[in-house]
Amino acid sequence: MAEENQQGHGPRESMEYDVVIVGGGPAGLSAAIRLKQLAAEKGAEVGVCVLEKGSEIGAHILSGAVMDPRALNELMPDWKEQGAPLNVPVTEDKFLFLSETGAKSVPNWALPDNFKNHGNYVISLANVTRW
Ligand SMILES: Cc1cc2nc3c(=O)[nH]c(=O)nc-3n(C[C@H](O)[C@H](O)[C@H](O)COP(=O)(O)OP(=O)(O)OC[C@H]3O[C@@H](n4cnc5c(N)ncnc54)[C@H](O)[C@@H]3O)c2cc1C
Repeated sequence: MAEENQQGHGPRESMEYDVVIVGGGPAGLSAAIRLKQLAAEKGAEVGVCVLEKGSEIGAHILSGAVMDPRALNELMPDWKEQGAPLNVPVTEDKFLFLSETGAKSVPNWALPDNFKNHGNYVISLANVTRW
């Protein structure tokens, strides 16, 4: 819809949405996808807009290397069939204390659970968000 802007400098395009989400990272994208899923389940239409400051989704995603797929399993159980870029399952964990001359490894049984990555994937979070 075209409107006069506040300075009266002629028409400015605007679009209406039901929900606007700021930030196209994993959180914003998951919220947008879930809203659309819930609307589809109810046979309703909901207009969702994701605003991302990067030039494209993923452009400002800096990190994320090892991913626990639990949340993705809940959001999109068929992510494998849909071609999500989670292609490298973790096969081994090594936790090392480095010194000037060498390294001492900590046995895996002594590590807290958050250092155990079996069932997780080595990913590029930028590529996962782009997908
Ligand atoms: C160095 C580092 C390493 C990490 N390694 C791992 C790891 O190995 N495994 C793991 O699970 N997690 C890791 N994390 C954590 C993981 O990256 C975050 O938990 C996850 O990215 C958070 O997602 P998010 O959507 O909340 O935010 P973000 O990923 O930060 O996404 C926010 C998005 O919003 C956009 N944005 C911000 N402000 C605005 C605005 N005003 N207008 C428009 N767009 C905006 C940004 O450009 C960005 O795209 C790591 C984090 C860091 C910093």
